[in-house]
Amino acid sequence: MKVVTTVAEVRSYRNAAAGTWGLVPTMGYLHEGHLSLVRRARAENDHVGVSIFVNPTQFGPHEDLEAYPRDLERDLKLLRQEGVDLVWTPPVEEVYPPGYQTYVTVEQVTRYLEGAARPGHFRGVATIVAKLFNVFQPDRAYFGQKDAQQVVVIQRMVEDLNFPVEIVVCPTVREPDGLAMSSRNTYLTPEQRAAAPVLYRALCAARDAWLAGERDGERLRQIMRAVLDTEPLAETEYVSAADPWTLEELGDASRGVLLSMAVRIGRARLIDNMRLPPEGP
Ligand code: AMP
Repeated sequence: MKVVTTVAEVRSYRNAAAGTWGLVPTMGYLHEGHLSLVRRARAENDHVGVSIFVNPTQFGPHEDLEAYPRDLERDLKLLRQEGVDLVWTPPVEEVYPPGYQTYVTVEQVTRYLEGAARPGHFRGVATIVAKLFNVFQPDRAYFGQKDAQQVVVIQRMVEDLNFPVEIVVCPTVREPDGLAMSSRNTYLTPEQRAAAPVLYRALCAARDAWLAGERDGERLRQIMRAVLDTEPLAETEYVSAADPWTLEELGDASRGVLLSMAVRIGRARLIDNMRLPPEGP
């Protein structure tokens, strides 16, 4: 496994290796969710590239950029075990050198949910992903359903800007009690960790109602909110029952729905979601 820091090194290694390339963009502090993307990329491509970069432009001024957990040695060991070919761990100045002034803005689908709660977040995400696509030139790129709006934004950008890459979306990997794996779960104290599965329980309650025939979007939001309200440590930022493609809040959820939420527990801001109807195999 080659570990490099410069754009030139990625380009030269990538171009020297013929065959298809799969790319897995990450911010590191890897867990089984990330590794599920790596394994899928490994299975579907001749070569696998992984980026580890805590991208400052997708963090707001009062967010957790400095506190974001990092453990490069452990990450590299895990990626070596997965048979990854190339890892890019650039310093910030390699990605955003002095004088940098170009950003990618995806418009409508970034106005809701995480985009509304975190102004500028998706401008940072779209910009770094566009740069990663230009640097790695992958045939396929792998993203987690865990970040549902991110998937919608990236798919929109790829279509609008004609990036020659296939976006592969992988299911959310959960802990046994339902908590979606996240690098940010490390912020939780044991007591807060015990409270955190309430997000999954809220999603399951709305899913069960939907499966039993409930199609009123407002009612689905109420069901999620009611479950979240049972947990004193959870402070709900938003709950949503939205159109899975436009991300607009739905009154009528009969044509499918993206259930999602952002909840603060202690200093962790947790997000989770579920798509209905559940996607087939
Ligand atoms: P991050 O390092 O948080 O930027 O995540 C890198 C990629 O891993 C993104 O495409 C995430 O959606 C994906 N990911 C993060 N957590 C999970 C999870 N629990 N299950 C599946 N994919 C995940």
